Amino acid sequence: MSGLLVENADFVVGEKVLRDASVYIEDGKILWVGKGEVPSGIEKIDARKCAVLPALVNAHTHLPETVLRGLCDDHNLQEWLNDYIWPAENKLKAEDARIAALLGCAELIHNGIGFFVDQYFYAKEIAESAVTAGIKALLCPSVFDNCPEGKGIENQFAIARNFVQEWQGKHERIFTGIGPHAPYTVSDEYLTRIAEFAGARGLHIHIHLSETEWENTESQRKFGETPAERLHRIGLLGEKTLLAHCVHLSQKDVKLIASAKSTILHCPQSNLKLSSGIAKVESFRNSINVLVGTDGNASNNNLDVLEELRTACMLQKYLFGPEAMPLSSAFRMISSNAGLLGCSYRGLIAPGMPADLAVLPLSKSHLQPVHDIHSNIIYSANGTDMRDLIVDGKVVMRDYKIVAFDERRVIEEAGRVAERILEKK
Ligand SMILES: [Zn+2]
Repeated sequence: MSGLLVENADFVVGEKVLRDASVYIEDGKILWVGKGEVPSGIEKIDARKCAVLPALVNAHTHLPETVLRGLCDDHNLQEWLNDYIWPAENKLKAEDARIAALLGCAELIHNGIGFFVDQYFYAKEIAESAVTAGIKALLCPSVFDNCPEGKGIENQFAIARNFVQEWQGKHERIFTGIGPHAPYTVSDEYLTRIAEFAGARGLHIHIHLSETEWENTESQRKFGETPAERLHRIGLLGEKTLLAHCVHLSQKDVKLIASAKSTILHCPQSNLKLSSGIAKVESFRNSINVLVGTDGNASNNNLDVLEELRTACMLQKYLFGPEAMPLSSAFRMISSNAGLLGCSYRGLIAPGMPADLAVLPLSKSHLQPVHDIHSNIIYSANGTDMRDLIVDGKVVMRDYKIVAFDERRVIEEAGRVAERILEKK
C-alpha cells in the first residue's frame, strides 16, 4: 500500500472549488476528497496557497517535433511540410526520436499535463519515453508514405500494427491507437484497411481533417466530396475516431461527425500560425466532444495547453461574442472531456478516480487576487506555473523538478540531435 496526502489546498472539483481541503490517495486512486483519516508515515505534499486541479490533457501533438521547434516560421502548411518539416524528419532516427520525446515529456510535465494524445512515427520510442517520465499517453503511430521509420506506407502500416501488437494492454499508462496521417496523404485503400484493423482491435483512429482550404478543394477535385464525407463513406468515422483541426467543416460535415460521436481535437495556435483558419468550435461544442491540443512543437511552438485554451476562448469570443466558451465548459476541454476516451485518465478529482493532479501556486503576483479560480487558471496562469504533478498517485514533478530523469542531460542530448538533423548532408 502506498499513500499520498495532498493537503491544505483549494481543489477544483468540476465547476466548484473545495476550499482548504485535502485529498488522500492510495494505490494510484483518490480515496477521499475533503477531510478524512490519514494513516501515519505516508508521503505528503503541502499545497497551502495552491489550487489543485486535474492533471491536464494535451489532446493532439507529435512529441518528437520538440527538436524541430523554430525550424520554420512564416509559411503555410503545404510549404512548411514539403520544404522544411518532412526533409528534416527524414533524418530522424529511432534513438533521436526517443531523446526528442523525452524532451517533450519534460515540457508536458512542466505544463501540468499528465496525459497526451500523439500521432507520430517511432511510437515505440515515444511509449518508452512516456513510461520513463511516468505520464499517460494514447499513442497512434502515423501511417503514410512520408515516414522515415517505414519508408513507404505498406511498411509503415506493418510497423504500426506491430506497435499495437506489442503495446496494447501491456502497460497501465500507455494506450494504443492508429494514425492515418490525413485524408490527402492516405488512399481509400489504406484508409479502409486501417479502419478494419482499428475496428477489429477496438483502437482509436487519430487523423488530421480539413485543416486547410487547400485540403478541401483537393478533396472535391479528386473525390467530389469533402474530407469528412470521404471518411464517412469509407467507414472511418466512429466513436473512437479523433479528428485533429476541423477548421473547414460544412454543416453536413458537422452532422456526420456528431452522429458518428467522433471527437474533435482543436489546435487553434497551429491553425493561426500556419494561416489555416479558425475552427468554429462554439457552433459544434454542444453536439461534438471537443478537446484542445497544441499540435507539434514545429507549428506552435510549445506544448502549453493552458495558453492554447486561452487562445481558443478568445478566438471563439471574437467570432461568436463574449458569452462563447464560458469558463467551466472551456476547462473541460483540457480535462474531463478526455475521460470519454477511456484511457484511465478522467480529468476529475473525486473518490475512485485515478489520482492525476496538478498543483498550481496561487501566491504569484500574476495570479492574485482570486475572484474566480477558473478565470485565473485560464486567463492568467502560464502552464509552467505548475509546481507539482501527480500521475496515478505517483509524484512525477515535485517543486518544479522532474523526478524520474535528468532533465538537463536530456536537453543537452536533444540539442545535439537538433544540430545533426539540420546539417546539410
Ligand atoms: Zn498535427
